[in-house]
Amino acid sequence: MRHKFIDIPRQTLPERSVVERVHDYKEYASRMEDGPIVKQAERCMDCGTPFCHVGDMIGQETIGCPIHNLIPEWNKLVSDQDWYRAFERLMETNNFPEFTGRVCPAPCEGSCTLGISEDPVAIKSIERTIIDRAFEEGWVKPRHVQKRTGRRVAIIGSGPAGLAAADQLNQLGHAVTIYEKADEAGGLLFYGIPNMKLEKDVVRRRVRLLEAEGIRFKTGVNVGTDVTIESLRHTYDAVILATGAQKQRTLGIDGDDATGVEPAMDYLTESTRTLGGKSLDARYDANGKDVIVIGGGDTGADCVATAIRQGAKSVTQFGKHPEKGMFRAPERPWPLQPDTLSTDYAYAEAIEYFDRDPRTYLIRSNRVIKQGDQVVGIETERMEKIVKPDGQATFFVVDGSVETYPADLVLVAIGFERPERELRKVGIEANHDYTSNVEGVFVAGDARRGQSLIVWAIREGREVADTVDGYLNTCQQQLKTSS
Ligand SMILES: Cc1cc2nc3c(=O)[nH]c(=O)nc-3n(C[C@H](O)[C@H](O)[C@H](O)COP(=O)(O)OP(=O)(O)OC[C@H]3O[C@@H](n4cnc5c(N)ncnc54)[C@H](O)[C@@H]3O)c2cc1C
Ligand code: SF4
Repeated sequence: MRHKFIDIPRQTLPERSVVERVHDYKEYASRMEDGPIVKQAERCMDCGTPFCHVGDMIGQETIGCPIHNLIPEWNKLVSDQDWYRAFERLMETNNFPEFTGRVCPAPCEGSCTLGISEDPVAIKSIERTIIDRAFEEGWVKPRHVQKRTGRRVAIIGSGPAGLAAADQLNQLGHAVTIYEKADEAGGLLFYGIPNMKLEKDVVRRRVRLLEAEGIRFKTGVNVGTDVTIESLRHTYDAVILATGAQKQRTLGIDGDDATGVEPAMDYLTESTRTLGGKSLDARYDANGKDVIVIGGGDTGADCVATAIRQGAKSVTQFGKHPEKGMFRAPERPWPLQPDTLSTDYAYAEAIEYFDRDPRTYLIRSNRVIKQGDQVVGIETERMEKIVKPDGQATFFVVDGSVETYPADLVLVAIGFERPERELRKVGIEANHDYTSNVEGVFVAGDARRGQSLIVWAIREGREVADTVDGYLNTCQQQLKTSS
């Protein structure tokens, strides 16, 4: 049999033209038509030992899908145009494929066996098409819970970890209440990831479904201020902390207190709020400004795309690492992620809009230049990266490489602090198995593992739910024995 991947090239979701999309905040990618996506699913060679669904870590690297999506199975079902069974199979492992199908960086594709010699299967595009079609067909309905256990669980935080834990526990019959300090549920899905990647109606649609299935949402409640964890401990049989890891790192250089030096998360959150009708605070408005984004990661990329939409005069992004290569490096063999240079949506937009790639590599910010209290520039130096024979990397400053970049707005996107300190402030220490030092209190998602990915948050939500269910059943047994 001649394999289909020989004749069918990889194709991913269609994207709106840059000229059109930079004028709005709607999603830049759209659903694929059924015909082309069936062809993409046919590219799966149903290899004997697939790695796409392994979902494990090698060192710091994710190998395959962390929630073990049954990818080769749904590829076969899509090839056969058996969309309903593909949807059922997808929902067995993934609570929210409409989120991952839009914004997951798809570690599954980096570990796809076809990727050893050809372009990998377009797994994420297939996943999104299955779930979009399921919504269109009306197959996604509230699943009413037949039998209730009488046990009550409080979940603090409504990001993907909290939502996945709530979904699992609710379906097991426990009564779940989610406490969220923001005015909208969804965590970083709502305030963090911009609309261009994930429209907020997609998040609201899932929250409404979960509500219809019996989960209670209490938004605008800051646990620790409005209500204490101890009081929740007394009211509920178990409490899950899924509070994320949103404390951002600060620059820690001279002048970083200047007006116009803003944390990326505040900037992205405020920008999202304006889409709900709030007027934009001038300090978060990039219109007509020279914008510098410090930090070469995905949060930085989202700032680049947002600044373009606000009408920035120029956008430059500083990264401390060297430019990535076009091909998989020998030290990154399959099934590790290839980690090659990609032109993410934000960069594609900047390249077309400003006629230059905003990314600047191997650069260090030395100090913020101010006029009065206002930032007017950043002084930088160039770095060189040397990798020693033992694999350790060291960075050196290049002599005489001092430069000055003009800036009216500096967005700091240099990562997030580990969550341990925030947890310790409320007397909690998380254990590896989702339990904590306090009986009946559990921790999951970024709050446990540090800033990560949505797909990992979903996995943690599913696993903490298993742990909590086991705990509740044990408590029930003990009660029966003692009575
Ligand atoms: C800008 C940005 C873009 C990203 N883009 C992507 C992407 O494209 N793809 C991807 O896979 N991942 C992305 N990530 C990472 C991903 O969003 C997170 O890993 C994921 O959301 C973590 O889920 P979580 O449920 O653990 O926490 P969060 O999503 O952070 O949710 C935690 C929730 O807890 C609430 N909370 C905290 N403390 C309290 C309290 N005391 N009382 C009540 N509520 C509280 C918070 O308000 C928040 O809503 C991005 C992250 C950022 C910052
Ligand atoms: S959730 Fe992410 S890793 Fe898993 S199949 Fe979907 S795109 Fe791949």
